[in-house]
Amino acid sequence: MAEVARIDLRSDTVTRPDPGMRRAMADASVGDDQFGEDETTNRLQEHVAALLGKEAALFFPTGTMANQAALRVLTRPGDEVIVGREAHSVWHETGGSAANAGVQFREVGEGGLFDEVAFSDAVKPRGHMIFPPTTLVEIENTHNRGGGVVFPQADVARICEAARSRDVATYLDGARLWNASAATGRTPGELAEPFDLVMVALSKGLGAPAGSLLAGSAPHIRSAVRHRRMLGGAMRQTGHYAAAGLHALTHNMARLADDHANARVLAERLGQSERVLLDPGTVQTNIVVFALRPDAPDADQVVARCREQGVLLVAFGRRKVRATTHLQVTREQCEGAGDILVDVIGT
Ligand SMILES: *Cc1c(COP(=O)(O)O)cnc(C)c1O
Repeated sequence: MAEVARIDLRSDTVTRPDPGMRRAMADASVGDDQFGEDETTNRLQEHVAALLGKEAALFFPTGTMANQAALRVLTRPGDEVIVGREAHSVWHETGGSAANAGVQFREVGEGGLFDEVAFSDAVKPRGHMIFPPTTLVEIENTHNRGGGVVFPQADVARICEAARSRDVATYLDGARLWNASAATGRTPGELAEPFDLVMVALSKGLGAPAGSLLAGSAPHIRSAVRHRRMLGGAMRQTGHYAAAGLHALTHNMARLADDHANARVLAERLGQSERVLLDPGTVQTNIVVFALRPDAPDADQVVARCREQGVLLVAFGRRKVRATTHLQVTREQCEGAGDILVDVIGT
């Protein structure tokens, strides 16, 4: 069968290290991180803590594990956690939050976003004879299933202030915080400032092969060290990964705006099909989530037919599809993918 050129828009995690990143990984100075002797990991942790304006940071193999550890640090089993609708922790972690932290979620708002009123209406008091206490509010910025939308910082500030006044802890799932920063011009530190604990990923738009970090106060990070080990995530010569992360933070941050522009190019092409339901206002970063009108094929069919033509996407629901741009797709490829999608879906 003839080889079809592949345009992989399944996720911003599909990228492979470029030669510069591979060299940085190979040359990294490493040691046993469990003895605190991995210089490169220490350097990455200090760098990210400073970037986010927090006292300390801790390397994790995955963002999912960092999310789980954060829940364990900030909650007790049986507690309730307020999150935006379709949060990653609710939908994409195979029920880990229930299994590992024993929390239950209360989804509020719309499209991944919510405001202080929605938060305050949903908070359950501590010490009630019947209710599960709300002890944490979690914000996802940018919001994956919401189509990569940026959480408005004014709402972040009001929610976190209301949370603090009610003794509710605050957590930022910032797997794509760098994208929110690129889209708004606010620094990662500004975006992270209102939160007790913050997670950021190296393996998404920045293009590193693995790694996420949790950042917060020294006592919170000390507690996270224990939970990381409990979850099996305490590794040894992590400096090879840390070096990839440092390289990515230096070289791949400024170009995130290109991914955002490419997502808009794709969204514009999709606008040629009336069978595609897409609010262009949600295309703020590198993710395009669109729905299919009833006269269009369903998501699985669209994904399968596009694959035959070399365009890889993911079905996000029965009639919902996600495309994600990243540092290894070009503007021309996004135009081509858009044309193939419109052809497959019909106008
Ligand atoms: C990808 C992602 C995670 C988890 O990251 P993994 O490294 O894939 O485990 C958490 N939250 C959000 C919003 C994500 O997009």
